[in-house]
Amino acid sequence: MVEEILSYRCNCGGLLKKSHTQVEFFGIDFGIRECEVCTKCGSEYLNEETLEEVEQEVKKRKLFGLEKQAQITKSGNSLVIRIPPEIAKFIGVHYKDNIRIYPKGENKIEIEVLS
Ligand SMILES: [Zn+2]
Repeated sequence: MVEEILSYRCNCGGLLKKSHTQVEFFGIDFGIRECEVCTKCGSEYLNEETLEEVEQEVKKRKLFGLEKQAQITKSGNSLVIRIPPEIAKFIGVHYKDNIRIYPKGENKIEIEVLS
């Protein structure tokens, strides 16, 4: 395999070449990905695309990690959903904030916090 030396350099001044690496963040396995590796210090750099994918996935997992079960209660003719404090904190919603609520399917609703 021919090594492709890139025209720009690592922060340490070393040369970068294209390579592949096993990517893992926060215990999530992203498989083998293209990267640029420094021939001097060994630093690995992932491309924008991979970094974005990692970020999206981490975000998603973080949300799943906050999943809670709650029971619908009642206030007058309206049904009341209690938002657990962890989720309220995560999405940055506070007492008396305005929200928009709409159906996202037959058994799903989406709540948008209006700032
Ligand atoms: Zn380096």
